[in-house]
Amino acid sequence: MSERMTAVVNYAAEPHSVELREIPVPEIGPGDVLLEVQAVGICGSDLHQFTGKQSWKVNYPVVLGHEFSGVIAEAGRDVAGFKAGERVVSETAAVIDAASPFARQGQYNIDPSRLGFGYGVNGAMTRYVKVPERCLHHIPDKLTFERAALTEPCSVAYNATCVHSRILPGSAVAVIGPGPIGLLCASLAKIAGAGTVAVIGTPADGWRLEVAKRLGAGATLGAHGEDAREWAGNFGDGYGVDLVIDAAGVSATLDLALDLVRPGGQITKVGWGPQPPNFSLDRLVQKAVRLQGSFSHNWPIWEKVIGLLSSGQLNIDPVLNRVSPLEEWREAFEEMHAGRIVKGVLKPTLG
Ligand SMILES: [Zn+2]
Repeated sequence: MSERMTAVVNYAAEPHSVELREIPVPEIGPGDVLLEVQAVGICGSDLHQFTGKQSWKVNYPVVLGHEFSGVIAEAGRDVAGFKAGERVVSETAAVIDAASPFARQGQYNIDPSRLGFGYGVNGAMTRYVKVPERCLHHIPDKLTFERAALTEPCSVAYNATCVHSRILPGSAVAVIGPGPIGLLCASLAKIAGAGTVAVIGTPADGWRLEVAKRLGAGATLGAHGEDAREWAGNFGDGYGVDLVIDAAGVSATLDLALDLVRPGGQITKVGWGPQPPNFSLDRLVQKAVRLQGSFSHNWPIWEKVIGLLSSGQLNIDPVLNRVSPLEEWREAFEEMHAGRIVKGVLKPTLG
């Protein structure tokens, strides 16, 4: 194996501080594997770091990429459940404190000391990444590496939609934000038994809202000036939807969510952005709405999502629009940022 490898490195907080760099192949510890990355998804959070608009602290310089699948190139001597040559995906919580009260109950995803790939430690937009065994899941041969790389965003959506939200057969669900997470939330809401699923975007989201239709959304709003509030007022009994999943990357959309949700309903916020909102929360109180945050995912969610992807019950092909070699990272980032593709995947073994 070569000593150095090409990596997509985010080197400073200033916008657009991302470039290809040659870095050493990582050394692994006894409990780690060295994973040869076969596919790595581009996440909205990679784009946030690219544009310098993230809500989290970044350990610069850092290799981007936390949505990845690959083949184990080498296993440390204490690794018991995995061996070289096996196909795997990796969770994102690269560093956790096993003694924290959250990790002790399996909720290491919400441990404040948790560090993830791609911002806290070096991620997977490169040939090799060091991964603790704890993060790994086997994947079946029939699940391609490209689809498997999207286990992570599917798990984010699964946590928001299926763990943190209550969907009954026939529930009306509105999803704000037709980015990858919003679209995957819409798909999972259908799988969970929702009746109508509406996906709400902006005039810039025309194409992504078409994808929402292909994923089974019964209503797509916002591309041509449709007003979501008006739609909700005319839908069903006119009181609003049972559940709003807010997957937009800003705080301010909570205002729309508070209008769309019916009294006694629920809002799950999974998209985030650092700008403070500027509106009253009176509707939250008056409507007795349950507001729920959702962050990341944990082991049981990954197992469920791998099952859904492997069986094809969760079909992500409509959102997986571009597969590129690492060298084309910038074009892929920009296409995704512009909304011309929903999701891009880089393949470090290409080119
Ligand atoms: Zn992600």
